[in-house]
Amino acid sequence: MADHSLEVLKLSVLFDNHFFNGAPTQVHFIQNSTMVGTWVDEQGAANLSVGLDRIQFMSSDQLAFLIAHEYGHLVLKHPQKTQEIQQQYGIVSTFDEFMLSFDSKRDYSKLMRDMELQADLFGAKLMLGLGRDPVSGASFLLGETKSIQHPEGTLRLAKIKAGESNLIAEDFSDTFSDLAMQLSDAEVLAALVPSDTLPVDSNDSTVKAVVESWPVAVDVGDYAGDTLYGFEVSVLLTVAVLACALPRWWRRTRVGQ
Ligand SMILES: [Zn+2]
Repeated sequence: MADHSLEVLKLSVLFDNHFFNGAPTQVHFIQNSTMVGTWVDEQGAANLSVGLDRIQFMSSDQLAFLIAHEYGHLVLKHPQKTQEIQQQYGIVSTFDEFMLSFDSKRDYSKLMRDMELQADLFGAKLMLGLGRDPVSGASFLLGETKSIQHPEGTLRLAKIKAGESNLIAEDFSDTFSDLAMQLSDAEVLAALVPSDTLPVDSNDSTVKAVVESWPVAVDVGDYAGDTLYGFEVSVLLTVAVLACALPRWWRRTRVGQ
């Protein structure tokens, strides 16, 4: 578990250096959670949350692909695009997705799923840049359930395989190819990341727009894998924070009297 956290931080430092001039992405490790998501907070800072239960049994390649995919969302500005799309379709909760008309749901779903495929391809490129196997990394997608936001795992893996052979056919040698060389530096830097970033309090009220929560691999109907949106997360967290804080505040007030 600890090794997995360090591996995530290492990749995060590496990708922050490569894509964001070293501006740090805030990494949140969440206990007892399988959710993984990215968002941009009110200060414009990138955030990545990683449910520890999700990564616990992942291989090193799978972990690298997962983080590379999430960085795909951040680099391609998907949190911002998600907000735009959801505004356009009047969606503030998962419930609103169900209420969309058939045509709207199809169009909305296509926009959301396209972002997933883009992040997959981005992740596959990064994997090649790291000298790793994208297909082995993405293998866990087969266990994912399809949702309004996420295409079928088999389709995603097929696209990654096709993308990989295209990239190799193009004589893959773009800016990503020096990533593997920077890995050892990233490891040193990751060890310096302040320890208070892991694990952080999951009652993080700065959560704005989570691009995705990876569907939990439970088969409960067509769209059941779809989990919470940033809005709902914010509401739930606010309620949780209040539920924790109010009794203490109440006691303190009464003691003061
Ligand atoms: Zn994604």
